[in-house]
Amino acid sequence: MAKVEISEIESAKERISGYVLNTPLLNSIALSAKLGLEVFLKTEFLQETGSFKIRGATNAMLSLNKSQRIRGVITASSGNHGPALAHAASKLGIKATICLSSMVPDNKVKNVRINGGIVKIAGNDYDSALAFCEGLVKVQNQYLVHPFDDSSVVAGAGTIGLEIIEETRGDLDCVLVPLSGGGLLAGVAIAVKAYAPQIRIIGVSMENGASMFNSIKAGRPVNVTEVETVADALGGNIGLNNKWTFETVRDLVDEVVVVSENDIKEAIRLIFKHHGFVSEGAGAVGIAALTGGAVKCKGKVACVLSGRNISEKNFLDIVNNSGVN
Ligand SMILES: *Cc1c(COP(=O)(O)O)cnc(C)c1O
Repeated sequence: MAKVEISEIESAKERISGYVLNTPLLNSIALSAKLGLEVFLKTEFLQETGSFKIRGATNAMLSLNKSQRIRGVITASSGNHGPALAHAASKLGIKATICLSSMVPDNKVKNVRINGGIVKIAGNDYDSALAFCEGLVKVQNQYLVHPFDDSSVVAGAGTIGLEIIEETRGDLDCVLVPLSGGGLLAGVAIAVKAYAPQIRIIGVSMENGASMFNSIKAGRPVNVTEVETVADALGGNIGLNNKWTFETVRDLVDEVVVVSENDIKEAIRLIFKHHGFVSEGAGAVGIAALTGGAVKCKGKVACVLSGRNISEKNFLDIVNNSGVN
């Protein structure tokens, strides 16, 4: 197993600047008043393709050698890595094949195609889509850009941590980070702890099917069954042979918590009500952890709003059902 170095995150920042946004870190007056904290929102949903995944994908594409570029890239995705990789690849004229499971919502399948990716639907969960992808790699000899268990993807995501530190000069108490495979959390933790080790880093997953949460509790990577959740982008396992994220999360992250489906929906409503921002379930878990009480934070808290790719129907159902679920 291995850990990404802070220097790799610093280099990623240089490499991807000009390709991705340095997103605003907004002080949320309304959520601050409601929670009795100073809440800051890292607005990653503003990135092209609607999630932070463009950072890791772009860093990976810019790190390929010439022959890898010519052969093209391939991946499996629970929804947001696919469009991001397709987009980052097509900008550089690289062919991208994206394997998706039948659990991936339609809006996300379309999002891959719009961004120039070739879609392959395989299996009923993320793990089967990944297994299919690994089979295809052997035949097509393309470079596999793993959605989180890849050093350049972790380094790309870590640039969010650097931006948060630069913006706040390290004057923060907590950073809340959505957690699935842990590429985002590992990257942010490495960057933040390198400059401000006193800041608490907290990973947040949904109750249903939280692979990293259960792996941390078990002390080793374990598999869980992928189930339906409003935080669909957080589905999938961390991998029994996890290389880049499990140990980093175990060693650097202060706490990993889970939130209920209802708390996630309530957070989606609150983010929309107070800011007019559309957040997908995965992007709203940090706010859900604060409002639902899954974590106790004091002082200055930054939440990474990681994505906005929710279907209109699901979004409207959630905002219209205030107080019902
Ligand atoms: C992928 C994703 C995450 C989780 O990232 P990991 O690196 O897999 O932990 C969180 N939010 C959104 C919107 C995502 O697309």
